[in-house]
Amino acid sequence: MRVLEWLEQADRGSPWGELSVVVAGIGVSGFAAADALVQLGATVTVVDESDGDAQRERATILEILGATVRLGPGASAELPGGAQLVVVSPGWRPTAPLLVAAEKAGVPIWGEVELAWRLRDPSTPWLALTGTNGKTTTVRMLSQMLQASGLRVGAAGNVGDPIVSAVMDPAGYDVFAVELSSFQLHWTHSLAVRSAAVLNVAPDHLDWHGSLDAYTADKGRIYQGVETACVYNVADPETERLVRDAEVTEGARAIGFTLGIPSVGMLGVVDDILVDRAFVAERQTSAAELASVDDVRPAAPHNVANALAAAALARSIGVPAVAVRDGLRGFEPEDHRISTVATVGGVDYVDDSKATNAHAAAASLAAYEPVVWIAGGLAKGASFDELVSGARDRLRGVVLIGADRNLISEALARHAPNVPVIEVADTDNMAMDRVVQEAARLAQPGDTVLLAPACASMDMFANYVRRGEAFAAAVHRHDGR
Ligand code: ADP
Repeated sequence: MRVLEWLEQADRGSPWGELSVVVAGIGVSGFAAADALVQLGATVTVVDESDGDAQRERATILEILGATVRLGPGASAELPGGAQLVVVSPGWRPTAPLLVAAEKAGVPIWGEVELAWRLRDPSTPWLALTGTNGKTTTVRMLSQMLQASGLRVGAAGNVGDPIVSAVMDPAGYDVFAVELSSFQLHWTHSLAVRSAAVLNVAPDHLDWHGSLDAYTADKGRIYQGVETACVYNVADPETERLVRDAEVTEGARAIGFTLGIPSVGMLGVVDDILVDRAFVAERQTSAAELASVDDVRPAAPHNVANALAAAALARSIGVPAVAVRDGLRGFEPEDHRISTVATVGGVDYVDDSKATNAHAAAASLAAYEPVVWIAGGLAKGASFDELVSGARDRLRGVVLIGADRNLISEALARHAPNVPVIEVADTDNMAMDRVVQEAARLAQPGDTVLLAPACASMDMFANYVRRGEAFAAAVHRHDGR
């Protein structure tokens, strides 16, 4: 292997044609990375252990463009000879044999985000955010605010378009709003964005990262080299610690967001108004009014926090207050994130199927009282004691489904022994109907029945969307009775 001297400092103008790259994974981001690298003239080999229809379809296109593709079991068992760089897709575990081999051979491993960072136009600012929960919601709020101020926004990252495609788009953008997962951050090295936010940190994906410390450290990489603002959550001291630990560009400021009254250098809430005491000249004595709490939909406390984080990032590049407000008003919440499905017999049925971990479920449980809570699925190594002891006084009852439901029922037995718990062991197509019937039996008029599973869905459903749809369909059938 010939080590390329320029690779460490590589940018769009580097001689990519000299480079032999292995792209690990032919998912959405692997495809985008391979496509970009082929366009730049690199020699590209794409490997993936799966060879389903979606993979083959992408392989056909990449082969036409000039890449070599290896699919199927064993395709990634070894590092192809001559590889000078590996670009890895976020789902890959660091222990995958190909990555271990690359590390051993001294071949650099980049994520698709690192590649995008190298290929970017340096004059276009990146506003980036991460967090255990609220990323998609917040990045969409941020995009709306930026758009409302007249900027052409490339919204990209963890969901939606891969950032490398957005960077390569010849149409060009004024600013990028980038959502980054902990997996993506794990494989970034030189990322140094204009402003960055960590919304919150709670245990999740520990099976991938190995420990909470490793997961947290990966999230903290987003603050490295930040130029203007490191936005942190005042209610989550871990996020502030990550700011303190980061090496930022001189002059970068730490900006807090809080649901309380903001100190100087923070955004917060005063009398149901979202205010900015960070990006105003007279911040010692005054604050700028941004929007009202009613402009945030849904106005659950954690979502107001998301709005403040988005506002902080937008304001850090000079977006006016009125654009923050208009952006929030123009924001449409996405499905399966605290969406009210129906009201039946005075009981609201709310779908928060996207609450796939305990921290998210705790936030949505905090928005309702009394609540009949529907939970369960795959726990991903999580524990539920804190969640259950925090929510017990709001619980009218609980209905549990899914593979790891016993972990939740055991936590309930420990911390909320008086709350009625019904376990539904069914896994067939009618399981959600049973769940909804049981929840309806527990609920009283004025209550909320909340699907906030605190678990992943894949034991019973293709994904959280299907789980939410199954819930909504069951509620409608129940309503029709
Ligand atoms: P992500 O992209 O990080 O998964 P989403 O915006 O899709 O985040 O929201 C995921 C889930 O997390 C939703 O079910 C929502 O109820 C919950 N959630 C959203 N924002 C927050 C927050 N700031 N704190 C805790 N939970 C949140």
